[in-house]
Amino acid sequence: MENGLTENLEENNCKSLANMKVFKFGGASVKDAAAIKNIAAIIKTFGDDSLVIVISAMGKTTNALEKVVHAFYYKTGEAETLLNEVKKFHFQILDELFDSKTHPIYQELHNTFVEIEWQIEDEPVGKFDFEYDQMVGIGEMLSTKIVSAYLNEVSCQNKWFDVRGLIRTDNTYRNAKVDWTVSTEQIQGELASFLNAKKGSIAITQGFVGSSSENFTTTLGREGSDFTAAILANILDAEEITIWKDVEGMLNADPKYFDKTIKLNNISYLEAVELAYFGASVIHPKTIKPLQNKGIPLQVKSFLNPGNKGSLIDQNSSADSLIPSYIHKPNQILISIAARDYSFITEDNLSAIYATFSKHGVSINIMQNSAISFSVCVDNEIPKINGLIAELQSDYKVTYNTDLQLLTVRHYTEEIIEELIAGKTIFLEQKSRSTARFVVK
Ligand code: ASP
Ligand code: MG
Repeated sequence: MENGLTENLEENNCKSLANMKVFKFGGASVKDAAAIKNIAAIIKTFGDDSLVIVISAMGKTTNALEKVVHAFYYKTGEAETLLNEVKKFHFQILDELFDSKTHPIYQELHNTFVEIEWQIEDEPVGKFDFEYDQMVGIGEMLSTKIVSAYLNEVSCQNKWFDVRGLIRTDNTYRNAKVDWTVSTEQIQGELASFLNAKKGSIAITQGFVGSSSENFTTTLGREGSDFTAAILANILDAEEITIWKDVEGMLNADPKYFDKTIKLNNISYLEAVELAYFGASVIHPKTIKPLQNKGIPLQVKSFLNPGNKGSLIDQNSSADSLIPSYIHKPNQILISIAARDYSFITEDNLSAIYATFSKHGVSINIMQNSAISFSVCVDNEIPKINGLIAELQSDYKVTYNTDLQLLTVRHYTEEIIEELIAGKTIFLEQKSRSTARFVVK
């Protein structure tokens, strides 16, 4: 058995894959028929390169499916209507992409919807997060089936892969952890053989989704498709990966909050991971590690202007710009935890407090402690946070402030900070040599 496996790995040695690239197209890049035609045009310019194309759900489909799951699970009576909207949206796009309604893609999409229609007719069988993953992952199935069929139609031959046969995870629904050993075997099997078979092969697959050992669909967490692309690039030893966005690259600020943004032309993995961790929404924070580990360069480029340069993220830190970057995290809650009897918060307390956060799946964005209290700022995701606070309250005095923002400035100057916090109430502040952070209202 062991021998067989080794042979297999050698046979499929992905290092031999010259010019294999991984692309990731997010929701905005496939939001309507025109957008899909646009990405087809981009893909066609890559002639001889073998491509693995990871695609997200179309437009705001994931949000729409989240509403379906919610309605289904909490029996609001709206699940069917909400699902019908999702269905209508996808079939409208099909009508614009294909001339004939007899194209097999119509039947295929229909079948995919039937699966979820059956699910919502029944009672929920598992916990919310389980049901969520079974339904929400459909968004990526739909988008990839449509794009794959359309590309084949416009003579861009490609093969559709179900990522659930490639990426194995544990069963932490909605935040599944990747089993790298099994995923490596699976990806180096069928997918690598397909890509190796000839130059210019194109594989299309889903982001965000994986499968547990019991064959249930799992998801990697919202915006997880970037991470999927990075996993595939790592295991296939891709030459490079490109994340196609509706912005020109990694910008020094979110254009939603700032008028004047500057593109970061070349930054290091380290700088990128810091920015993503602080909340820069351009790339998912988990994306960098698999790429850094194999030295695979990451490009962030605009699908609207594919000829433009974009941002390059790689090993080279000498080019790291010291352009100040601004990161804005809205909807924060600052929770302060103190002992009821005025005693110190000790390491033992901290260890128990961390365990409680971990149990509720709440990640800490920033924290600070004093003699008798420990304060943390987290995303205010209502049901989760309520559960967390209720549990903390059984042992501690818990106070909190909501509707806060967490502002981070990387490579700050005092002037920048003054301007940024002018007129705001500061609840917490922290500065290191390179980064200043404020929790404000
Ligand atoms: N479709 C999923 C989401 O919107 C995953 C992704 O787009 O990366 O979160
Ligand atoms: Mg998305």
